[in-house]
Amino acid sequence: MFELLVASNNQHKIHEYEEMFSGYDIKIHSPKDLGINVNPDENGETYEANSLIKAQALAEFTKMPIIADDSGLNVVALNNFPGIHSSRFADSCGGNKFANPELIKKLEPYEDKSAFFTCVITLLNIEEKPVIFKGICPGIILSKPEGEGGFGYDPIFYSNEAKQCFGTASEDVKNKYSHRAKAMAQLIEYLKSKKLI
Ligand code: IMP
Repeated sequence: MFELLVASNNQHKIHEYEEMFSGYDIKIHSPKDLGINVNPDENGETYEANSLIKAQALAEFTKMPIIADDSGLNVVALNNFPGIHSSRFADSCGGNKFANPELIKKLEPYEDKSAFFTCVITLLNIEEKPVIFKGICPGIILSKPEGEGGFGYDPIFYSNEAKQCFGTASEDVKNKYSHRAKAMAQLIEYLKSKKLI
């Protein structure tokens, strides 16, 4: 069985990975499972840089293959804000319950409601160099939040490909069309090509 450490303390992300890896001979560990507690400063200027920072912080503790995902919501009319600052923007508003309406308000003056989620996965401890996978999920920002599903910005994001809001979509639908699903599909292909799964 292939063992993989997912560099996240976000239970929603871990759950999505568990769902997407189900059906493969893979055992997922979280840092918490292994008694590792690191909170590196995500001060990179790109998703790639921050994803690498998170993966490298864990590589100090283990030789186990590691994936770290850095992700966020990019709103086109707002010059891709909050982007790599998605987590910080949500925290600064007191959580997504408040950040989501705040983002809708910021976007009110603009006709263009288009947005896209980005996910960059960095894989460490397989090859000497990090291996990177990237997924993009296009959509629009809704005029009010919908549903309780998913996490973060999901209730204000309508996926063009799923043809529904991620706040109302089932887990299976989100895990088919999301930015994370797309990066994951490449990761799976890579692991298969290396005969690791
Ligand atoms: P990260 O944990 O540093 O990658 O921060 C990602 C932030 O972007 C999270 O706190 C969420 O607010 C948001 N985000 C990332 N992926 C998703 C998603 O799949 N749905 C909704 N929000 C997301």
